[in-house]
Amino acid sequence: RQEQFRALRSVEPVTKDGQRISLLMNAGLLVDLPQLAESGAEGIGLFRTELQFMIASTMPKADEQEAFYRNVLKQAGGRVVTFRTLDIGGDKVVPYFRAHEEENPALGWRAIRLSLDRPGLLRTQLRAMLKAAADNELKMMVPMVTEVSEIRAVRELLQKEVQHLSRFGHSLPRKLQFGAMLEVPALLWQLDELMAEVDFVSVGSNDLFQFSMAVDRGNARVSDRFDPLERPFLRILRDIVRAGERNKTPVTLCGELAGKTISAMALLGIGFRSVSMSPASIGPVKAMLLGLDLKALSEVMEAALDDRQPTSSMRDILVRFA
Ligand code: PEP
Ligand code: MG
Repeated sequence: RQEQFRALRSVEPVTKDGQRISLLMNAGLLVDLPQLAESGAEGIGLFRTELQFMIASTMPKADEQEAFYRNVLKQAGGRVVTFRTLDIGGDKVVPYFRAHEEENPALGWRAIRLSLDRPGLLRTQLRAMLKAAADNELKMMVPMVTEVSEIRAVRELLQKEVQHLSRFGHSLPRKLQFGAMLEVPALLWQLDELMAEVDFVSVGSNDLFQFSMAVDRGNARVSDRFDPLERPFLRILRDIVRAGERNKTPVTLCGELAGKTISAMALLGIGFRSVSMSPASIGPVKAMLLGLDLKALSEVMEAALDDRQPTSSMRDILVRFA
């Protein structure tokens, strides 16, 4: 099987009925980079920058961050890299940084909240990314956004860093793409405003699922009671895809959901054309989509999602289709 997937590396990810799908991989450390070539991923759809911080014993300095990002871009060799700004807190612990115990860390002082309260930390990171991507393309996104005002605030800081660097004669990235991660349900009712502010949106399905279904992503006692393939969550994802179409904003998804073959199929069926997953999943997902009649699947799923008195689970419907 491994050999079979390997053989698909250079095969274009196009469904049986001709839809081109973008298959990206998730990464966070330099050791992940060779997986780009190994897996045949088109690029990196999620680069978790907090990993550099999590494995360090002290806060990485500005020049260390810059050197790291430069190295990542160099090793990516022109393939797109989507850097996510620091996502510290919640399940991502940086021991030298957090001093306070929180009763509900998943809902606490984390990610963008922490970054906006410590703007020095965020500005250092933004500057490091801008410098590392001088004369290159820079794509970045912000985790755990709850309100559009937060994404505006980050964009302002980014603008300040751009101005600062150009004032001092530094080269800038020749293209800059700025995005938001959709992980908090409150953003679902701000999609049009959000999409007017960003170049792309990336669904963090691990957190969006956890918060939508009120099920702790790390707690095995409850995880198998709630299936992301059930109607409520797939309807949420379908609404996001529709908002993307309405606003002409590219939408992608980078949670674990994209890496399981049957869920990846469901995502394509509701309209995702770009997904990011762990590198080991690229081969199996590509093998699935090469034989997929996407138009037929979309019709089946559309009807099944609208069904108000369903007699089969979505999972059964998908398995039957496969
Ligand atoms: C997610 O929440 O789906 C996601 C991609 O981010 P992380 O798993 O790093 O929280
Ligand atoms: Mg997340």
